[in-house]
Amino acid sequence: MISIHNEPQPTDLGDVRVANRAVVLRQVRLHAPCSRADIAARTGLNKATVSSLVSELITQRLVRETGLTENRVGRPATMLVLDGEPYAALGLQIGADELVAVAIDLGGNRLLSWRRAFAASAVPPTDTLRALTALSRRAIGRVSATGRTVQGLTVGVPGLVDTAGAVPLAAALGWRDVPVAAALRAALRDPGFVVGVDSVANLAALAEQRHGAHAGVADLVHLTGGLTVGAGIIAAGRLLRGARGFAGEIGHLPLDPAGAPCACGAHGCLTALVGLPAVVRRLLPDAEADGPVVDYLPELTRIVALARQDDPTVLSGLAETGRQLGRGVAVLADLLNPEAVVVGDHLAALAPWLLPTARSELAARAHLPDAGGCRLDASTVDAAAALGGATAALATVEAGRLPVR
Ligand SMILES: [Zn+2]
Repeated sequence: MISIHNEPQPTDLGDVRVANRAVVLRQVRLHAPCSRADIAARTGLNKATVSSLVSELITQRLVRETGLTENRVGRPATMLVLDGEPYAALGLQIGADELVAVAIDLGGNRLLSWRRAFAASAVPPTDTLRALTALSRRAIGRVSATGRTVQGLTVGVPGLVDTAGAVPLAAALGWRDVPVAAALRAALRDPGFVVGVDSVANLAALAEQRHGAHAGVADLVHLTGGLTVGAGIIAAGRLLRGARGFAGEIGHLPLDPAGAPCACGAHGCLTALVGLPAVVRRLLPDAEADGPVVDYLPELTRIVALARQDDPTVLSGLAETGRQLGRGVAVLADLLNPEAVVVGDHLAALAPWLLPTARSELAARAHLPDAGGCRLDASTVDAAAALGGATAALATVEAGRLPVR
């Protein structure tokens, strides 16, 4: 289970009930269809407690009875599954050249998935906040029109996000000290649900661990691509945040002090070598002929097309990018010993050409034998940070708090 900021700790009887509600809900999410007796057996809670909690969860429409029965040792049992029909959660994501919104239900099913072209790196933060507010309002309106109540909204930002939801620094966007959560909460006029902000890397890792090909893996790293490279780290099943919430900022790992300049002011950072702007600049020297690139999708599409045509310059550029990626992943493998590192965004789109050299470099550079068993794969989760944002927005309900009605 992923922990969130302010995860309730059971300190009194009310908190114990909240914690037990979370335990029962989690059992239904992981093992549905399951019976009250199954839950009691798995959790060690007594049957009367489980029955009482299940009744409450049914009243809240977080759980429902399927009417199915399962005959075991001659005793039929009513089976339970997640309900959550009246509820939804929203995730938004600031991408390299787009804003993304995803809404999900309690079971993680997507209710909407929108993309809107938007170059956040080319406009002041206030413009981006205004666009995020407009997109949030439309998504809230769409979800509400289907009779669902939004339980929370989380925005993913490609940069440092502190525990208050402010962004002290997002070099790729040119942001310094932007109070994203406070501004969005005010713009949405205190909507009655939690408005959170987290790094795109953390949120993508959350989506990967819940919905990806490596779902349920306890030690996992999601390496985001796009404007900046960042690591979302799941260690022992929990998001690793660090003292101020900034853990995983691997994008400015100095891999080559003589390398290309980075938006942070240094040279040869991982982002300056394998980030999307760096890859476009290296593989398509003509792309910036008419000024800085702000619309990356056409350029990425061109790179994929040239790679498919076996263009020798593009293939060798991608192989070199893969080697640099592998050097960064080798640091992660040695430091964290994850079961898997999963790359997202443009690194996933270019994975067929990046991963062969990246995997060889990982094996050659990691100090751990066999790179500590670390697999290096491409993410298969679409809009991972937005999906992770919506998943994070369900955290209060999953932690056993009663939903917003
Ligand atoms: Zn840098």
